[in-house]
Amino acid sequence: MKTALFYNKLDSGKVKCLLCPHNCIISEGKLGICGVRRNTGGDLYSETYEKVSAIHFDPIEKKPLYHFLPGKIILSIGSVGCNLSCNFCQNCDISQITVDDFTWFKHISVGDIVDLAINRKDNAGISYTYNEPSIHYEYMLEIATEIKRRKMNNVMVSNGFINQEPLKKLISVLDAFNIDLKAFTEEFYKKQTKSALKPVLDTLKLLNESGNHLEITNLVIPSLNDDPLTFGKMIEWIYKELGENTILHLSRYFPHYKMTIAGTPISTLERLYNIAKEKLHYVYLGNVAGSEGQNTYCPSCQHLLISRSGYYTSVTGFRDDGKCKKCGQIVPNMIL
Ligand code: SF4
Ligand code: SF4
Repeated sequence: MKTALFYNKLDSGKVKCLLCPHNCIISEGKLGICGVRRNTGGDLYSETYEKVSAIHFDPIEKKPLYHFLPGKIILSIGSVGCNLSCNFCQNCDISQITVDDFTWFKHISVGDIVDLAINRKDNAGISYTYNEPSIHYEYMLEIATEIKRRKMNNVMVSNGFINQEPLKKLISVLDAFNIDLKAFTEEFYKKQTKSALKPVLDTLKLLNESGNHLEITNLVIPSLNDDPLTFGKMIEWIYKELGENTILHLSRYFPHYKMTIAGTPISTLERLYNIAKEKLHYVYLGNVAGSEGQNTYCPSCQHLLISRSGYYTSVTGFRDDGKCKKCGQIVPNMIL
């Protein structure tokens, strides 16, 4: 356990956590909503410090990141807990459990994680993923600081539900983000995730302004967030606030956890893909086997730059200077 950052001590021994917009007020001995930050003796502690539930070398495409070091692998770590409670969570076994109830932790020090990352020659860095990484803020920040010092990369895959001050501190050491934009209504966020949309939009704006690499994932769930009109408003917001070169992954949903709605029809994804493509250069389809929507094409001349099949990635369309091999134009928002 580690003393938490971002909290205030309150009267009568309570603490107020300031890490995410829940701003939990936590009584002595209790955990916050995320299930991993506890008030002990009137101070707040991170209970998952150096506790890992899953650790793998993954293709970076699996995060998903399609425009950040394509074809590379990255050491990926997760723990338990989440500050959201999405009815459709694909990782509910580790996200919807408290630190007290999970019994399979691997205890790995900051130094050992860093050693693991640097000792594999083809590894791009570390990805903080699987469950929500922001709630393990202290562990992530310490690892990320050391990884940055070693000139490797830090990637965060997150729901984006974090307060601005802690996010600003993270931005200084992280390189790339994939943030979920789960829907474009407060109603969806409240009912389906027990959180709110506005802080996620604020996160996206701050990350975009920071110049860090940003990709967005939208899981399309039939009847809940696939209304073309609302989806179109989301695309308009992305276009205006983040720009036409924003990378958007439309991901196919399958029933999981509390959600029994049937999986997303391909036709729905294709319809939304076409709406998004009217405004954005880079739109991808995820969880759709053999789809053309996984490939990257030059926004200037439509030359095939990167082809993907599952997690097999072939980067063929660039010149040595990173420009398009066919038209010679810079490919915006692409880090090779
Ligand atoms: S990080 Fe956890 S304890 Fe802190 S405010 Fe968010 S849900 Fe509450
Ligand atoms: S934010 Fe992600 S990890 Fe957390 S409950 Fe939702 S889908 Fe699961």
